[in-house]
Amino acid sequence: MRELKDLVRPNVWGLKPYSSARDEFHGKASVFLDANENPWNDPYNRYPDPRQWTLKQRIAELKGVTPDSIFLGNGSDEAIDLLIRAFCEPGEENIVVIAPSYGMYGVAADVNNVECREVSLTADFDLDAEAVLNAADGRTKAIFLCSPNNPTGNNLDREAIYTILRHFDGIVVIDEAYIDFSASPSFVGELADFPNLIVLQTLSKAWGAAAIRLGMAFAAPELIAVLNKIKYPYNVNLLTQEKALELLGDTGRKDRQVKEILAERERLAALLSEPPFSYRVYPSDANFLLVDVGRATAMYEALVEKGVVVRNRDNVRMCHGCLRVTIGTREENDILLNALKECK
Ligand code: PMP
Repeated sequence: MRELKDLVRPNVWGLKPYSSARDEFHGKASVFLDANENPWNDPYNRYPDPRQWTLKQRIAELKGVTPDSIFLGNGSDEAIDLLIRAFCEPGEENIVVIAPSYGMYGVAADVNNVECREVSLTADFDLDAEAVLNAADGRTKAIFLCSPNNPTGNNLDREAIYTILRHFDGIVVIDEAYIDFSASPSFVGELADFPNLIVLQTLSKAWGAAAIRLGMAFAAPELIAVLNKIKYPYNVNLLTQEKALELLGDTGRKDRQVKEILAERERLAALLSEPPFSYRVYPSDANFLLVDVGRATAMYEALVEKGVVVRNRDNVRMCHGCLRVTIGTREENDILLNALKECK
């Protein structure tokens, strides 16, 4: 890995971050007259902890990392944007992404006027490490991988990921939004071996909390410090911090829901592969299935007519003819199956 100082944009490296009232005072006090807050409406009158230490402590316990290895943001989308802004000089530098994959890497790059180089997955939606490394040059600051990948659903080949981690001298982001549905272990356990690795996770999927917007980035503390430097001071609000703590206190609930989703994923995959459907269903390690239905756009519209919304991936690279179907409850999945029968 290049020196962190040589990877971070010079203006960010030299930046003196905004120091908020809640940053400057630590310790016990009974009268807070430092942040121009309203003295009433406790506790919502007070600015929240800008570094979210209580929540990070809990996440640290769950994930087996130290709290200073964690960045929390307004969804993982915030971390994606901050990473591009921290590392890539607009108009000059670039990121490399796999395709098809999650669209926000490219959008965040576009917003920041950073070139986004797409490298196709192999025919079986796997990672071609050599092609990804070849797409990178001296101006490539980050490679974005997504495993399990959206919209294909599969885990990327682990050895190919290691190859990229070992041979790329910039930042390697592994987006693990769907990791709780996967049979493969998280790369969070590998952070100690790879100083250039950043792992993204979220409360939006397995934890069932997309509405509260909490994304997590795990990396070496020096790398996390760069994100902290440029984030909005109070980027995670109090309601989110409190609700997240409550949810993370009940891992049993999350595990039960994941188990149910996995059972439904297998049931739905089997049924969709068989007559009367006989669709090609791609293997999934996520909470959705990519299904080749043939006339995807027509099927999408026919399903909408029946009140069932799936994701039409007809126009996505390598996904022609495909719908991406999120695994719902058993009842919801049965409604989908019946609607699909009527659409045939
Ligand atoms: N990464 C991937 C691969 C996703 O599919 C999504 C959401 N669809 C996200 C990140 C965004 O997650 P969040 O809700 O945490 O912003």
